[in-house]
Amino acid sequence: MKAEALFWQQCSQAVTADGSVDAQRLMELVIATYRVHESDYDEIERSAETLLRENHALRGNMSALSQAFDGQQRLFEIILNNLPLGLSVFDADQRLTLSNIRFGQLFGLTQADVTPGATIADLIDKMRGAEGTGSKPGRRAGRHSSAAVKSSGIRRREWLMDDGRIIQSMVTILADGSNIAIHADITEDRKAAERIAYLAHHDPLTGLPNRIHFREQVDSALAERKRDEQIALIHLNLDRFKSINNMMGVSAGDTILQQVAARIRASAGSENTLARLGSDEFAILQTGRQQPWNVTALAEQIRRELSEPFLHGEKHMELSVSMGIAVAPGDGEETDILLKNAGVALSHAKADGRKRERFFAGEMEAQMQLRHALEADLRAAIEKEEFELHYQPLYDLSQRRICGFEALIRWNHPIRGRVAPIDFIPLAEEVGLIVDIGRWVLHQACNDAVEWPEDIKVAVNVSAMQFSSSDLTSDVGEALAAASLSPLRLELEITESVLMENLGEVLPILHALKERGIRISMDDFGTGYSSLSYLSSFPFDKIKIDKSFVNDIVDNKEAHAIMHAIILLGDALGMRVTVEGVETAEQLALLECEECDEIQGYHISRPRPACDVPHLLSLPPKNGGVMHLPRC
Ligand code: C2E
Ligand code: MG
Ligand code: MG
Repeated sequence: MKAEALFWQQCSQAVTADGSVDAQRLMELVIATYRVHESDYDEIERSAETLLRENHALRGNMSALSQAFDGQQRLFEIILNNLPLGLSVFDADQRLTLSNIRFGQLFGLTQADVTPGATIADLIDKMRGAEGTGSKPGRRAGRHSSAAVKSSGIRRREWLMDDGRIIQSMVTILADGSNIAIHADITEDRKAAERIAYLAHHDPLTGLPNRIHFREQVDSALAERKRDEQIALIHLNLDRFKSINNMMGVSAGDTILQQVAARIRASAGSENTLARLGSDEFAILQTGRQQPWNVTALAEQIRRELSEPFLHGEKHMELSVSMGIAVAPGDGEETDILLKNAGVALSHAKADGRKRERFFAGEMEAQMQLRHALEADLRAAIEKEEFELHYQPLYDLSQRRICGFEALIRWNHPIRGRVAPIDFIPLAEEVGLIVDIGRWVLHQACNDAVEWPEDIKVAVNVSAMQFSSSDLTSDVGEALAAASLSPLRLELEITESVLMENLGEVLPILHALKERGIRISMDDFGTGYSSLSYLSSFPFDKIKIDKSFVNDIVDNKEAHAIMHAIILLGDALGMRVTVEGVETAEQLALLECEECDEIQGYHISRPRPACDVPHLLSLPPKNGGVMHLPRC
């Protein structure tokens, strides 16, 4: 309130009833008002002092803040320039406003190049590299759309530098069109990623595509196949490669696999796709016009290439290969089916004696299922004690008495009935079961033989796989020891195929067995390709001439002459000669004249169960002498 108005108010309050002014009252009112104002003044004075003090404190804070800001600025610069990543900020006009040292280094730009104000276009011109193909627009930013510049989003760009480095930029585009980007050297990461991708699709040993990659290639070949085009798939598997690994060690096996891959690659040429599917399994995809007439030529070429010896150090190795071939569309139009059918054809090639190729045929599948069922039964057969040994006499012609028995396995299946060895031994060999079966045969034969008279021997057939996949020497030793049978009473029969598999591996085992007094016979002599050459490789105790040579010896001069020559050969080599498959007295008589040492055949006896052995031993001698003898 203004002073006059206040005084006027005070005067009116001091007017008495008669209209005069009470001076005393007026003075009191004025003094009271003065007092109120005096306390206000004090208050103002105090506030001013507070204000002064706070102002002072504020100044102090301001300088502390400014110092802190300077510190933050320095810290920011230190961090910025020591970042392992490059950083750049461009304004809405695409001019550089901020960057760190790493940014210039990554793009090979000088300090002068990266001064604020430089445009993106300038910098791209000056940098030592160019944008690569790995650039991608961000989720919301199209690379060439102007909207993208305005709307915010992240965009990845990649730069291929002249020195081979790859720089990746992650550019965040802000709403006003400015952008902040971080840049990284991803050369090493990219190399590692490429290596991982390569390893995921290739076999490190041979450098060939692996199964995954091969499937992708078959997928795309089938997808691109024209209506009248055929595509062939060859599935290759090395025969008995496991024995090379077992004998020479895995690293030698690896070297040979590399050589195999190189030879298959050379045969297949660049127009065919080659892959390694597994340890000793390879595959070739043949597309285009070459199909299908050329696939046979290719298979033959591969077989020829692989039949040449392989070298490891100074050692020569012989290899063979089996192949299954499936041709699309006839044998399947999907990768899985085509691969499966080539595999089925391969199994048939193996079952038919290996070293060959087989084209898939519809009925193969049904046959495979039968084989699988047989294999399953065979696996259970040992445990279920379904095997039995029969014994066929070995008859000494000069002594005219049985001198031993050959153990021949029989499989008594509850449903299949009696399965002949020819129907399950090849399968057992192929799937490796022959090792367990062979061990059982050895034990059983020794156990039975120990019950026989001391001078009666037992002969046991041994398969190639027993040499390569088990320790035959110790298996034999254990069987003899368990039965307490003298090694001198045991003969082992091996066929030429055992020696063909791997002479280098088999010979030391044969020598070790022979040193222990065990006799070694060459079985089925004359049925193989090079029985003669193998005769000189090992001092066999006995050769068993295959029954196919006996059939015509009585009536056919040539057959007789061959038999005569083989018996002489055996004599000359100091090996005992046994003729198998003697079915008639005439044959016996003729062989007696030929001074053959031993015969075996239905004429003496068919193979009989062990319980019949005492009876067989008690029979009178078989005599061919009473016969009318042909010329001796
Ligand atoms: P192998 O070792 O050559 O045995 C002789 C085969 O000829 C036997 O056939 C026998 O029954 C048959 N045989 C004997 N005398 C005559 C005859 O006068 N005429 C005719 N036509 N055949 C005769 P089996 O028992 O069927 O055995 C066949 C093959 O199976 C054997 O040939 C042998 O290679 C193999 N085998 C048999 N048992 C075993 C075994 O325990 N282990 C192995 N690894 N193979 C075995
Ligand atoms: Mg035999
Ligand atoms: Mg034989």
